[in-house]
Amino acid sequence: MPLEIPYASISNRVAELNRRYRYSDAFEVLRHSLTDPNFGPVALVSSFGAESVVLLHMVSEIDKNTPIIFIDTRMLFPQTLAYQNELATTFGLSDVRQIRTDLEELFRRDTENLMHRSNSDACCALRKTEPLQNALSEFDTWISGRKRYQGGSRSVLDYFESENDQRIKVNPLANWSPEDVASYIDQHNLPRHPLVAKGFKSIGCFPCTTPVGINEDDRAGRWRGEEKSECGIHFDASGGYRRSKTESTNVIVNDDGFCAEDWNYAFHEFEHIDALSAEQKEAVAIDLPNDTDGAILLSKLHEIDLIRIGFPSIADGRGFSLARQLRTLGYHGRLRAKGHVISDQYEMARRSGFDEVEIDANLAKRQPEAHWLSRKDWQNGDYQRRLLQSL
Ligand code: SF4
Repeated sequence: MPLEIPYASISNRVAELNRRYRYSDAFEVLRHSLTDPNFGPVALVSSFGAESVVLLHMVSEIDKNTPIIFIDTRMLFPQTLAYQNELATTFGLSDVRQIRTDLEELFRRDTENLMHRSNSDACCALRKTEPLQNALSEFDTWISGRKRYQGGSRSVLDYFESENDQRIKVNPLANWSPEDVASYIDQHNLPRHPLVAKGFKSIGCFPCTTPVGINEDDRAGRWRGEEKSECGIHFDASGGYRRSKTESTNVIVNDDGFCAEDWNYAFHEFEHIDALSAEQKEAVAIDLPNDTDGAILLSKLHEIDLIRIGFPSIADGRGFSLARQLRTLGYHGRLRAKGHVISDQYEMARRSGFDEVEIDANLAKRQPEAHWLSRKDWQNGDYQRRLLQSL
């Protein structure tokens, strides 16, 4: 059933829901999300990790047929797989969907199963984000178990969030403390993940998860030693990781490597081009959402020096199609991809017609220049070029 909402956008509806439910408890928020038809099809996304049992138990109390999406990265601890079976049986959950990356695709992109060592962002994209985005395509709303006390970007969580104005994300446990979690588990005598007793407070894939010390943050054992603290399934609308600790200067990536911003003029919304003064028209740059039909710019393309297309998430490839369309329409100016584009996608970006990619400083740290430069011979992978060379 499509999401029918009497609001201008999902963001507006989310703001209203947060206002209406600000004094409600977790169970009430969850019950409302699972039973109100205005939310459309709803799924719970669960890692069957250290604290997942709370939401799984609550969901089973409301509707045992709720779809539960479980991402099996093929890198999970065997204890997690066993725990998933145990909880599904104990709670009578009838629709647990174990999703995985297609084996052929996995082999093509991570032949040795070692990508997590060299590029954990790309590994999470391949094994988690992409299969999840596919699985979520049939849902209008999804439920996550994130909580504010987990810190970083999660410290400002609301009950309801808009995911790129396309889907509602519900965080029923947003306000819970570690004591609330422990007390709920005790009160209902729920089974714990076997690794909790061994010091694991947040449990993901085995190569990227370690136990944590007494004074450490619960998630300190995830990607230990890396800047990374989220796998990428919780992106914000700007395409950045919510974990960003500080405002940072963006980095421009092109075939020469990392460069500082060299565009010294304003970026305008594309709807405002006609209103620009003669002086402003001397150097015109516009920001373009990735769902724009490039054809509407046809008569204006010659006036624009730089077009910057937004990439709200790794899995959203519409920006590549838009770039191709603009080049096909005859745009010869500078074309930039901005947002969540990772080094593995640089070849695709260049082939689609982009000249450069704009990334934030945190991503630049996690994916240093060498990662991107290893893709700069993108033309060698271009089938049309190979075809021409073979003639
Ligand atoms: Fe790969 Fe580690 Fe991410 Fe799992 S958590 S998908 S192994 S990088």
